[in-house]
Order: sequence, then structure tokens, then C-alpha cells
Amino acid sequence: MPAAPAAANSSAAVPSEPPSSLRLDLAQACRRLETASPPEIIAWAVERFGSRLTMATAFGPEGCLILHWLAAIAPQTYVFNLETGYQFPETLILRDRIAARYGLQVALERPDTSVAEYEHQHGGPLFRTAPDRCCGDRKLAVIRRVLARFGAWMSGIRRDQSPDRAAAPIVGWDAKFGVVKISPLANWTKARVWETIIREDVPYNPLHDQGYVSIGCAPCTRPVNVGEDERAGRWSGTAKTECGLHSRG
Ligand code: SF4
Repeated sequence: MPAAPAAANSSAAVPSEPPSSLRLDLAQACRRLETASPPEIIAWAVERFGSRLTMATAFGPEGCLILHWLAAIAPQTYVFNLETGYQFPETLILRDRIAARYGLQVALERPDTSVAEYEHQHGGPLFRTAPDRCCGDRKLAVIRRVLARFGAWMSGIRRDQSPDRAAAPIVGWDAKFGVVKISPLANWTKARVWETIIREDVPYNPLHDQGYVSIGCAPCTRPVNVGEDERAGRWSGTAKTECGLHSRG
């Protein structure tokens, strides 16, 4: 597994705007890459940011597809998964399958406490009573810590996944974490992602064949019914739609 750059101060204020030296570059790249292929976008990110580039993945179909390309373009890239302790066993097994297929070792970045310690601290799990707090502690705090060591991150989000993601640029400033965010599949459809996964024989989570469309932590994910939105199975029955990694607030 490639080593991550040395840690910066993760508690430092996060800049809401990119440095002036990056602003024009990002705007131009964003326009130009709108018509580029995902491998071209990934190659641009690798060329532009080098070892300052990282990727986060929950091993969704989009993430697996990006890893398929990244393995050929820059396998030394530091890729990580937010291991909350609540993920499905199938998700963690998929990490091993990807390592076997591509030689890519995806790092597991964990919160400071185990699930047992966390639930003991709070008198039980928070995923039903306070899911925002749970995501904040077990995902957001961790990704903040990781991204403080980098200048840019890649994610697998697509614009048509949800209204929250509809305006996602291919390349832009992520004011939440103070780094550049690259979304190589932002303008792809779910159908195009799956066509490519099947054609290229990319490993994917077997839970997708059991009705799970968007897969996160096990307690907060259910299969979706025919006609439901693809993210309807996440935090079902609550108003929560995002863990906070890809929302602006
Ligand atoms: S998705 Fe659920 S279990 Fe996972 S961190 Fe968020 S609230 Fe907790």
C-alpha cells in the first residue's frame, strides 16, 4: 500500500476558496474535462496533483470502475475506505477481491473508537437515534483527518444519483474539506456505469444482485423496491439522504 504524505494540521481552518494560483486552472480544467472520458479525467488528476491526489471509495460500482482505470494509470495512488465498523462483510471482501485482481491495496481509515467502544460511550448505537452524529464521528471526522494530508481527492459520485449531487462539477473546489474534488463519473449514467462494469468484468459488490442499489453501512442500508429512487435504501424512513461527505453544509 503506498504511503500517504505526512499529516498536516487537520484542525486548521478550511479555506472556502481555492488559492488564487489554482482558481483559473480549475475553471479551465472543469470546462475542458466536461467532454473528456473518465480515464482522461483520472490521468489529468494524476498529472496535475501527483502524490497530493487521493481517492475515497465505499466500493460502490462507480468506485470499483474508477479503481479499474486507476490501476492502469497510477496504481501508486493512495486510496482509502472509511471503515466505520458497520460495513457489510461483502464490502470488505470486495476490497480483497480488488487487491487480488489489480494489486491495489485500499487503506482502511478508521475512527478513533471501535464500534464496541463507541456504543459503550453512548449507551448504544447512534445510527437510529442520531445518524448525523454517527456519520459525523465515524465518517466525516475520519475523512477530514485523511484529506488534511492531500491537495485533491477523487470520488465516484454521479449527478443523476440525487438532487444533492445534480450540480457536481467534474473538477471543483471542495470547500467542506479545503481540497480539490474530482468526480470522473459526474456526467455518466447508472446504465453506462453498469454496461462498462459488465463489459470489462470489473469486480462489484454481490449485494447489488440482491436488490441493494446504493450500499453504505449495514444498519442504514436496505434493498430498494422496483420504481424507488436508487438512494431510497439509505437511511430509509428518515429525512437523511447523505452522510455529509458530498453535501455542502
Ligand atoms: S451510515 Fe449509519 S452506521 Fe454508518 S456512520 Fe452513518 S449513521 Fe453510522
